[in-house]
Order: sequence, then C-alpha cells, then structure tokens
Amino acid sequence: MKRNFLYKLCNWCLKRQNVKSYSPNEIVEDCQICHGFESQIEKICKNVLQVTKDYRYDTFQIGLTLDHSFYDNEDKFRSRFRIRGKENIKTSILRDIRKKFSKLSNKRVDSSSPEITINLQIGKKFETNVIMSSKTMVLSGRYIKTKRLKVTSNDSRNGDRLDLNQHHIENVLRIKLSNLLQSNSITYWPLGKEEPRSLVLGNGRPFYVSIKNSKIFNLKETFSIRSSGLVFNIKDRLPTYPAAPPFYIKKVKALVSVSEKIVTLDSDFIQNTGIKLVEFVTQRGKNWKFVYDMQVKLKSPRKFELTMICDNGFPVREFIDGRGSTSTCLSDLIHKECSCDYFDIMNIVSEDDCQVSK
Ligand SMILES: [Zn+2]
Repeated sequence: MKRNFLYKLCNWCLKRQNVKSYSPNEIVEDCQICHGFESQIEKICKNVLQVTKDYRYDTFQIGLTLDHSFYDNEDKFRSRFRIRGKENIKTSILRDIRKKFSKLSNKRVDSSSPEITINLQIGKKFETNVIMSSKTMVLSGRYIKTKRLKVTSNDSRNGDRLDLNQHHIENVLRIKLSNLLQSNSITYWPLGKEEPRSLVLGNGRPFYVSIKNSKIFNLKETFSIRSSGLVFNIKDRLPTYPAAPPFYIKKVKALVSVSEKIVTLDSDFIQNTGIKLVEFVTQRGKNWKFVYDMQVKLKSPRKFELTMICDNGFPVREFIDGRGSTSTCLSDLIHKECSCDYFDIMNIVSEDDCQVSK
C-alpha cells in the first residue's frame, strides 16, 4: 500500500478509518473528510435541543440527510487506501449525534416507536435544518353528558340531530385536547350517537381519539377533561385504533307520547315481548340490532317512560316514532301512534362487563 502523507485528517476520522499503514502528516480539525465534525456536534445538538424545547417526551429517534461531499471525501480516501467494509461517515455521524443528544436532553433513543422523530439535513458547511414529526397517539375513554343541549337548528331530521350533537361534543373535546397536547390534528370516533337533548350517564359513551403532531407525550395514564356539562374520562393509550369496534349494550330511558289514552293492558303487552331483532336501514345498508328488554312506566294517560336494554347503535327515535326504516316499531306493539319526546342513555356496557343493571 502506498503511503500518502498529504491527507489532513482529524482524530475522529483517523480512528474511524483505523488504517495501520497510514500515518497522517498532520492531525487537524479542518479535516479533509468530515470538515471538522467533532467541533460541530455540540452546536448541532444544541440546535436540536432548541427546536425540541416545547416537546414533552421520553423517547426520540434521529434521521439524517448528509451532503454528498462528506461521502465523496470518504470514498476518495478509502479507495486511495483500499479500505473496505468500514462503517460509512453517515452512520458514524448519526450514532454520535444520537448519543450526544441523548446525553444533552436526558431522553432515550427508541428506534421502533419513538415519540418524536428528528430529521436532520446537514449541508456542506454544517448548515443544519431540523424537521420534527411525532408519533400518532390513540386515546380511549368515555364521556358523560350531564346537561341537555339546547339546539336552535330548525332541521329536526333524526340524522341531523345526532350529527349536530356529535359535532358539538367533538368540538369541545378537540379544543381541550389541542390545547393540552398542542396538536393541530385530532380525529374523534365515538361508539354511537345520541341527540342534543339526551343525557349520557352511567359509565358514559366509549370513544377513541387519535392525535397527530402532538408535542406532549408525558401524559398521565388516566385523566379527565370537563367542559360545559361534559366529562371526558381518558382511560387508556393505544398504539392504533382497534381493528373492529368492541361490542356494547346500552340502557336507554325514553319519554314517549301517544295519540290516544293508554290503558294498562297496552303496557302489559310491552313488558312481555321478549328479545326482539329489529332490522333497519342506514347509509351503509341493512343493519340488525337486538332489543333485550323493555319496561314501561306510565307517567300520565298520554305519556309513558320506556326503558330499553338494546345493542349500542340501536336507532331509538326511529323505533319509537315509527317514521324510520325499522322493521318493528313501538306503534306496532301498542297499536297507538307514538312519538319520542327525548331519550337518555343510562349506561353503556361491554359484553365482558357484568349485566346491565335494570
Ligand atoms: Zn474528520
């Protein structure tokens, strides 16, 4: 191997090349391979520290796009001295930056599922650009609604009422979470809907929420958000949404008005109907839900309270009003025209939970 004393290398590069046959004529900081990376690393890491200062996290990963001149310099040197199979300059720089940044920030490297990802672009003269991204978080929880909403919309179609209520709840949650987690991208997925006037009691309605580009990761395991009659209890943090929504049963209490006076026999009939399978049509096509139990309590000659235990997602108003697509409706059972004044969700339980209390 020919000797070449013209190369000016720094200690860092010399160690990396590990060439016994090569003795540099000078150890310099202005290295011909790395342009003096060692004197820049502190500055680069402090720059990253500055960019990440608003993030609350425990784990990170750093990626790197390095100017081609670094590779070119190293390739030239290595081909000159026939050095093969050594770690390339990008891998070395990246490893040292990760190590240094971990020490400075006191955070852990996690290459499989980091909370924040820092992408560095390093130019020829160490001009550094830092691009941040963060892991999508999925939280699961339940909300309770203790106040009836007043809606001034003149559109009383069932679907609109349900959607209006959902949008309201979504907005409240989104504003609260985006302030708390400093995220601008929040997606809300409730399991089922109720009307603006409906209360949601008991354990509350299950929901998921996915949060992108968050800056805050060191959340408590469980926490609650309260706002205008709504309480969101966050219970879990998941890697992704569940592949299929879990199965739930709900207990509903509705106030029903009827066209004609009720005699006791009518309500007796409802108490003994047994389990019913009700078919109805949604935007996605036909659907079927079970009603497991119905109980009636007379409130006045033309009003009664109907308590139902049914699958979550059962279309309560359509079933009572009889104007929807349900295969059986309440009017069919008591032979009187019925209308739903309002309904409340008393509880929602999963299949695994114990029986719904009656
Ligand atoms: Zn060097």
